[in-house]
Amino acid sequence: MANSKYEYVKSFEVDDEIMLPNTIIVRVHARDFCRFSEVHEFEKPNDKKALELMNECANAVLEQFPDVIFSYGYSDEYSFIFKKETKFYQRRGRQMASVYVVVLSLNYIQCSGLAIGKSKEEAQATLRGSLKQDKNELLYQCFNINYKKDIPEVFRQGTCTLKTEVEDIVKYKDDGFPVKRTRRKVLRVHSENIASKRFWKEKLCLSKEEVDQFCEDLNKTRPEYVKSFQYESRLMLSTWIVVRIDGCHFHRFSDIHEFEKPNDAQALNLMNACAVAVLEEFRDVVFAYGVSDEYSFVLKKDSQLYQRCASEIVSSVVSFFSSTYTMRWNEFFPQKEMKRLPYFDGRAVCYPSSEIVKDYLAWRQVDCHINNQYNTCFWLLVKSGKSKSDAQSDLKGTQTPEKNEILDRLTGILNYYDTLPPMFCLGSSVFWDKETKMVDNEEGATGKSRKIVVVGHCNIIETGFWEAHPQILDEKVDRFKSVQNANGKNDLP
Ligand SMILES: [Mg+2]
Repeated sequence: MANSKYEYVKSFEVDDEIMLPNTIIVRVHARDFCRFSEVHEFEKPNDKKALELMNECANAVLEQFPDVIFSYGYSDEYSFIFKKETKFYQRRGRQMASVYVVVLSLNYIQCSGLAIGKSKEEAQATLRGSLKQDKNELLYQCFNINYKKDIPEVFRQGTCTLKTEVEDIVKYKDDGFPVKRTRRKVLRVHSENIASKRFWKEKLCLSKEEVDQFCEDLNKTRPEYVKSFQYESRLMLSTWIVVRIDGCHFHRFSDIHEFEKPNDAQALNLMNACAVAVLEEFRDVVFAYGVSDEYSFVLKKDSQLYQRCASEIVSSVVSFFSSTYTMRWNEFFPQKEMKRLPYFDGRAVCYPSSEIVKDYLAWRQVDCHINNQYNTCFWLLVKSGKSKSDAQSDLKGTQTPEKNEILDRLTGILNYYDTLPPMFCLGSSVFWDKETKMVDNEEGATGKSRKIVVVGHCNIIETGFWEAHPQILDEKVDRFKSVQNANGKNDLP
């Protein structure tokens, strides 16, 4: 594919690789889960079905990603541990200890005060500073609940999911000798102490040396030490943040769901609907540009979303987008069952000026045009009876005029490319705009305007669009205010 002059924007992308020998743990936790559980009327303090759903999701993660070897979850959070290169686990003690700390901090009992008619605040005040024994006693005296006996272990201990190897007998040889094959099996356990030697000895997925090492490390471990490994990369202040998300394995996803080639208008409309939802949910997103299975979201320069923490911003946008895609699938494909889950990856990049943001967007739009022209030619050649490899070699080294010639020849339509829907050639731009409605009242018809999110297919490479919508990438920010907000206090004169 040809390069464009806008490609320089790629140099703003920095790699934040987690170096070996670190083991990677990804902890996910639900955003605003209190509200979510209230809306869906989850049982308090624990909803068994909701936990089962979380556990099923964790299973799916372990099955989908071979490198995730262990997970631990309770309530609305889950931690996933990745294998460290080829070795199964190393330095595991420290990471397990963080999980152990989480188990200890299980605030299960905090909610139970509600059952005797106390307000949430009163219940909190009663429990403040109370020890484990006090809480157990309170449970027994007020509710006749024996914490260990009466509360299911899934609530008390959370859920671990791990992979073990099992041997299956595939068939028997003529002499009656069994032919075995090892298979990785996902195993779910609830254990009182997953940071213990006994637990890992029983699970048989660590070598003896590893178990010894594990316990040695664990004895030295303090919660503060474990926490010190967590790092938050904050995005530079007063820069435009662009979150670009991209569909994973979407070639396969589009094949399975029989998307039209080279462009499926409904699939693109669904992507656009998800982008509109993102703008409505995350008010700091001022502009979005989408093409194929990718979308870029521009956050305003003085955004303080999640204190500009990169992983929180990216993961929230990505998971919100993916969930919306799944939830609204039926609206766009009423006749098609979703056979595979769509998921996206994402990254956040900072750009220092609105001019460079415009160049970034131009880069994506040039890419859209180049890919679309190539794909339109490619699929027309294939539909005309050529094999995929012949179509590829026909197009090798061709420039825009030659591709246009091929298109005109194959379709018999002059300037065929220009007749394609603008959504295919220009991608989709999503932004807040004013909508004016004429309303009849006593003084006659008057225009009433409100802000809505609109989807357009515009040329964003040329300056005209930006001149017509100067408010989108407005550079004027109160830098003193934004720095104070970032510091969380106002100590400037
Ligand atoms: Mg992709």
